[in-house]
Amino acid sequence: MAVSIHEARAAVLEHAQVLDAEDVFLDDALGRALALDASAPNDVPPFAASAMDGFAIRAADTVAGAAELELIGEAKAGTEAGVSVRRGTAVRISTGAPVPDGADAIVPQEMTTSDGTTVAVVGQIAIGYHVRPPGEDIRAGELVVPAGSLLGPAELGVLASMNIPRPSVVRRPRVAIAGTGDELTDPGQPLKPGAIRDSNGPALGGAVHRAGGELVARVRVGDDLEATVSVLGAALRDVDMLITTGGVSVGPHDHVRPALARLGYREVFAGVKLKPGRPTTFAVGEDGTLVFALPGNPVSALMAFRLFVVPAMDAMLGRSGEHHPLTATADEPLEGAVGRTTVIRCRTTLQDDGWHVRPTKSQESHILTSMLNVDALALVPEDRDGIEAGEPVEIEFVG
Ligand code: AMP
Ligand code: MG
Repeated sequence: MAVSIHEARAAVLEHAQVLDAEDVFLDDALGRALALDASAPNDVPPFAASAMDGFAIRAADTVAGAAELELIGEAKAGTEAGVSVRRGTAVRISTGAPVPDGADAIVPQEMTTSDGTTVAVVGQIAIGYHVRPPGEDIRAGELVVPAGSLLGPAELGVLASMNIPRPSVVRRPRVAIAGTGDELTDPGQPLKPGAIRDSNGPALGGAVHRAGGELVARVRVGDDLEATVSVLGAALRDVDMLITTGGVSVGPHDHVRPALARLGYREVFAGVKLKPGRPTTFAVGEDGTLVFALPGNPVSALMAFRLFVVPAMDAMLGRSGEHHPLTATADEPLEGAVGRTTVIRCRTTLQDDGWHVRPTKSQESHILTSMLNVDALALVPEDRDGIEAGEPVEIEFVG
């Protein structure tokens, strides 16, 4: 029996387990989810450092409002200061250099004049002025990047500054794609009469990469039960997920469901009250391998991928699968189908009163070009035969 899209998603999330972890170099960690809490082993910065180019001094020497100090050395970034600041003296210092012993403030160069042997300071300088204390950014022991965080450029920089060169991240799901259909031909190959290009292969391959998966195999099989059993069986070896397209409806040449049953996969749902994408089927293996049997129609396949496979991959990757519904105003009527959630491919604009959507061209499920330039899907609820222009509608942005 067909389930609603919310029931289908909930069922998928129930079976999508976070994968185990692996250590990767920071340069390879962009976009991955951190598997373990990252706490700081040390203070950052590790020592009191100057925030300015100028002179390290003792603040007490400037209480009179002006001071003439003896220049006794230099502190550069990347080395120990080597000299101590005593009463009446100053040390030239660069941004990022350790503040020498005895000094408790930095006078920026702009507030001084120097002849190379003395430094004249104008103004009274407060203790701590332009000194970056140790641990000001991160305190030793502090939990800075919690497990589950998605590693973006800022997270990579913070982990580097904490001296974590190989963070532990969640492994990528290993995914195989199997296209079914006697008619399918790779682009670049001659097209026999009645044949069409396999567009789902490249489209879903790209979708898997974009969702954070590792595409380990892309195979194809004709409309034959025995061949389907053997090709799907082989594709299921050593993967976390198999995605099939086509052959999952009620026609005499649709062999995916029987083949999965023969391979010992249990159907969690077969059919979703969704338009397009009704035949979408989800099965699980005894070892937890997930199978998404998506419809053959290219639009249906991509939409079902977005609605069900992406949340599963997010959950497997340890990314927060939180779903935040957004509402937009329909700028044109959106056609629905009572009894099914209708997914409309849209383009959004942001206006003074919030998001607005407009459908891209024909919404037929074989019109693949209707997916071009789509940035959101609008969901016409199953109890509505349409949304009038000007009415609110739930949307999901698509990447
Ligand atoms: P099916 O679900 O197998 O009945 O396929 C539904 C429609 O999608 C048919 O018109 C198929 O030719 C088409 N189709 C199936 N698989 C693909 C594919 N990989 N690329 C492009 N079109 C496909
Ligand atoms: Mg087919």
